[in-house]
Amino acid sequence: MNLTLHLTDNCNMDCSYCIREKCPKDMTEDVLIAACDLAFSRGQRAGLCFFGGEPLLKKDLIYKALDYCEEKSRKTGIRFDCKMTTNGSLLDEEFLKRAVRAKMGIGLSFDGKAQDICRIFAGGKPTSSVVEEKAKLLLSYMPEASALATIAPQAVPYYAESVKYLHELGFKHLSFVIAYGRKVSWTDEDLDALRGQLEKACGYIRELFIKGDKVFIGPIYSKISECIRDKNPAERCHLGVRQMPVTPKGDLYPCTSFIGDEDYLLGNVFEGLNEAKVIEIAKRSSTPETCTGCDLVKRCTNSCGCANRMNTGDENKVSPLQCTYERMLIEASDKLGEELYQIDPEKFAKEFG
Ligand code: SF4
Ligand code: SF4
Repeated sequence: MNLTLHLTDNCNMDCSYCIREKCPKDMTEDVLIAACDLAFSRGQRAGLCFFGGEPLLKKDLIYKALDYCEEKSRKTGIRFDCKMTTNGSLLDEEFLKRAVRAKMGIGLSFDGKAQDICRIFAGGKPTSSVVEEKAKLLLSYMPEASALATIAPQAVPYYAESVKYLHELGFKHLSFVIAYGRKVSWTDEDLDALRGQLEKACGYIRELFIKGDKVFIGPIYSKISECIRDKNPAERCHLGVRQMPVTPKGDLYPCTSFIGDEDYLLGNVFEGLNEAKVIEIAKRSSTPETCTGCDLVKRCTNSCGCANRMNTGDENKVSPLQCTYERMLIEASDKLGEELYQIDPEKFAKEFG
């Protein structure tokens, strides 16, 4: 079973689009161990994602979880996998050595050239120079680590430049998502500018393809490859069945964006899961009514109930912003896919097939 452990609600940064309410509440060791036991209680694989707030504020808990789960994996034969999403500012060699031993996958939240516009330290200082150095350190230990960038409206003009910058820094895997939530407000002009930036980023991918290099940019590569493999991305959202968050006090919810809403409480790590509720909520994930009949329905992530809920208050209602973004992503990816195919069909099939 896969669990996302919110080790703390606290953070040393103050990002403009952060959806977490920062209050200094940490997970206790009792909750941590009960969560580890729960992860091992179902199936032949236990997966933990260390998350926050900023999880590296609680390195002691991460070390404890790793020792405990590795030992449990040896005793039971159940496979243990772990990953972490971090703002990177507290990464150090000691931690990275332990993370390498645990084969941890690390995603570094890093907005590239827009870092200081959106991601500042609590107290107001810029974060870019610190995080750039930490990114180099991370890549020296884990060359396959990912950079996770969030595009807020004010970061749009830096999107294409950020793709190039993060790739030149050494990241081979980038993920860009747009910022949502009550602190973020998109205009039509922002979306037009985003379309232009997407085209520029696709131009950069095309240059790399011709040179025999590549950078995997999450939404663009996935859209191309899902299209040629006829795979439905909407299958991704399972409302908590695949990756369930655990709050610092041990409560279980379908997704981070549902935390605190009693209607979605699925149990806690001490008493276990309310199975009937898990099944009932997982069944709710369906194609939104507004999308029925849309030609793009099989290529769109419209059934991400968590994103829908954050944007519209309804897990089955897509916001105009999400719809527009999905359309522009599909359009840009299709155009790029077609161009790359024309340049070298064999290489294209190898890369995306
Ligand atoms: S690093 Fe993450 S948790 Fe911390 S303020 Fe930024 S978005 Fe929020
Ligand atoms: S493009 Fe818009 S209408 Fe079409 S499936 Fe996606 S969200 Fe729904």
